[in-house]
Amino acid sequence: MTLSVRLAAGKASAEREFELGQGWNRIRLAVDAPANVATVRLRWPAAATLGLWGINLGRVNLPTTVNDTHPHLDDLQAPQISPETFYLPHDVALALDIDPEGSARIVLAPGPNIALKKCSYCQRLLPLDPDRLGSLSFHKHNAKATNHQNECRSCKKWRINNNFNPKRTVDQLNESSLITRERKVFLREPQILQDIKDRTGAGLKSQVWERFGRKCFFCGRDLKLDEVQLDHTRPLAYLWPIDEHATCLCAEHNNLKKEKFPVDFYTSEQLERLSKLCGLALEDLRKKTLNEKELERIIQDLPRFAREWDPRTFAATARKIAEMRPDIDLLIVLRKQSRGAYREMTTRLRERPPSVTDV
Ligand SMILES: [Zn+2]
Ligand SMILES: [Zn+2]
Repeated sequence: MTLSVRLAAGKASAEREFELGQGWNRIRLAVDAPANVATVRLRWPAAATLGLWGINLGRVNLPTTVNDTHPHLDDLQAPQISPETFYLPHDVALALDIDPEGSARIVLAPGPNIALKKCSYCQRLLPLDPDRLGSLSFHKHNAKATNHQNECRSCKKWRINNNFNPKRTVDQLNESSLITRERKVFLREPQILQDIKDRTGAGLKSQVWERFGRKCFFCGRDLKLDEVQLDHTRPLAYLWPIDEHATCLCAEHNNLKKEKFPVDFYTSEQLERLSKLCGLALEDLRKKTLNEKELERIIQDLPRFAREWDPRTFAATARKIAEMRPDIDLLIVLRKQSRGAYREMTTRLRERPPSVTDV
């Protein structure tokens, strides 16, 4: 059947017809308008019954991209990635109240079932159809238990594969997650997290969440505990492990902050507020320094770490250290300590050249 949708807001309006097939279909319509009030009109043949899930209306939140370029509204309405890309909340089936007088033909009643899955990136619950793989909000992926990718279509496109960031390929993502994992092990994060739990009886995540008033520090959005992403505050890449000074962020802003120092990401007002919440002195938040204690530990036991780490972790770590301490070249330090370990590392580095773009 044909569904006609009209959206009007202020002086702007748009109308489009959608051909709907059997089962759940995805439709979308947006206009560029500053108005606070918008009207949606749906029209369909009287003989047909239409079930609605997740009908929603609101301001479109443009996806945040790596270099701050925003996609155009028309890009957002491409059928293969929309309506997910509008980033409207989708926690309930219907976020609107039905006006009984204006809409006598509409009943709120259980309709056909719909399967939902949480996007691992934006954390929204979005629909998928187990019988029509890839037809709703997730691309199909046969190797996964759900037969779908972990991230919704729009997060995959805008925030992960990001067209605006063509340098970041899947290989580089795998590579940087390997380096991150090896850094966390070296900095003894699993043990730190366990110690905090043993000492205080609560997990670090829930403690930080409470301390930050259950909100994303950056955007102030209310977060459920499973939406919280702990940010290291001071970057892991500069050898700062996770600890009780972590910052509570939403997925979007944790991704935006990434490996930046607080002073390169927050305004001075935000830094002052952050200092009170995370317990680090304001002057420490303003500094850009390596964790000297951990640096010393690397240097003391360098041949062992060189053998344990992937050569890319070694190269990335050496690069970060040289950035802050130009007097230290990790490879030369290694050569002084052990000729054998140095030869082994240079061979492995040649076999797998480290990526230039990686942090
Ligand atoms: Zn998503
Ligand atoms: Zn946020």
